[in-house]
Amino acid sequence: MAFYVHRAFGGVVPSLARDAHAAAIGRVVADALAAAGLAADEVDAVGVTAGPGLEVCLRVGARAAVAAAVDADVPLVTVNHLEAHFPFLTLLVSGGHCQLLLARGVGDYAVLGGTLDDAAGEAFDKTARLLGLDVAAGGGPALEALAAQGDADAVPFPVPMARRRDLTTLVVAGGVAANASVRSALAGVVAATPGWSMVVPPPALCTDNGVMVAWAAAERLLGGVANEREGWAVRARWPLGGRGG
Ligand code: ATP
Ligand code: FE
Repeated sequence: MAFYVHRAFGGVVPSLARDAHAAAIGRVVADALAAAGLAADEVDAVGVTAGPGLEVCLRVGARAAVAAAVDADVPLVTVNHLEAHFPFLTLLVSGGHCQLLLARGVGDYAVLGGTLDDAAGEAFDKTARLLGLDVAAGGGPALEALAAQGDADAVPFPVPMARRRDLTTLVVAGGVAANASVRSALAGVVAATPGWSMVVPPPALCTDNGVMVAWAAAERLLGGVANEREGWAVRARWPLGGRGG
């Protein structure tokens, strides 16, 4: 979400966010089609995030997606956008979530654990605001830039939950996965654990984006999800975990 429209308010204002989404949606779709070299009626299916998130914003995308699917006469697939951040042992660290998930398959997750407190991204955002940093591009990037001048060893942290499962791949997903310290600390843990490897998107694709939703929609479609053009609604809360999560 373009953060600058909310800058003066120190947080996201739903009506402004809705208007910004409505103003941007046509251009975003046109740009994506142009970049793919496709006409609107040449797509095979439409994937759309149905939640979780701000309902007023989700509805803007939902309406546009249904219209596009009807116009092109193709299937529509709804996606939980947390799933779009994508799977194995997944550390999902975003604005609203800080969870370890066991990904058993498309749409089949078990929550191994999570924070009882603020999500990691929320903690970055609040800390940046408390410190009076410029949060135009989000609190995380501002705090990361400041931390480059800090002392990484100033505070010793304990290591929780050292036990893990019969797995060998760690996927790190969500906006906080863009953070260089988070990436290198986790890469260090994985490198020190024989047989393990880590998969993490490039920093520019860690925060919410259309590619991850399209990819998750394609996985669901290939996995046999039926056309969902009708009979669904956006969801402000939509936890991952369990089948169909
Ligand atoms: P959710 O996916 O849980 O609904 P969200 O969609 O708002 O939440 P994302 O778009 O995945 O979350 O990520 C946004 C969060 O990522 C913000 O809290 C932001 O501060 C954080 N973030 C982005 N870049 C960085 C960075 N370089 N370092 C730390 N945090 C970052
Ligand atoms: Fe997100």
